[in-house]
Amino acid sequence: MMHFTCDRCGKLIGQGDRHHVVRIEVTAAFDPNELSEEDLDADHLKEVGDLIKAIEADPNVAAAEVPKTRSLRRDLCGDCVETFVQHPVGHETGIEKKAFYSPN
Ligand SMILES: [Zn+2]
Repeated sequence: MMHFTCDRCGKLIGQGDRHHVVRIEVTAAFDPNELSEEDLDADHLKEVGDLIKAIEADPNVAAAEVPKTRSLRRDLCGDCVETFVQHPVGHETGIEKKAFYSPN
């Protein structure tokens, strides 16, 4: 039988207890302000073709070209999930006071 422990408070999450899984994917954000006329005029099909050829020649190129994405999984008990939902970026640190949520 699998045992789960809350990754926030450390409490054992027993069978029948509320158990929540939080999956977070962190990746570099796209900044539309960095787009230029040159970017819009670029031949993207040619760039993709060149990248495919470079990856075929050296698979390590793919790791260098693709932005790093990190995936996290955390198990939370019923008490801690409520705190997480209310303060997903960290109440204890005060970070949420500075957070800006874009309208989209
Ligand atoms: Zn907990």
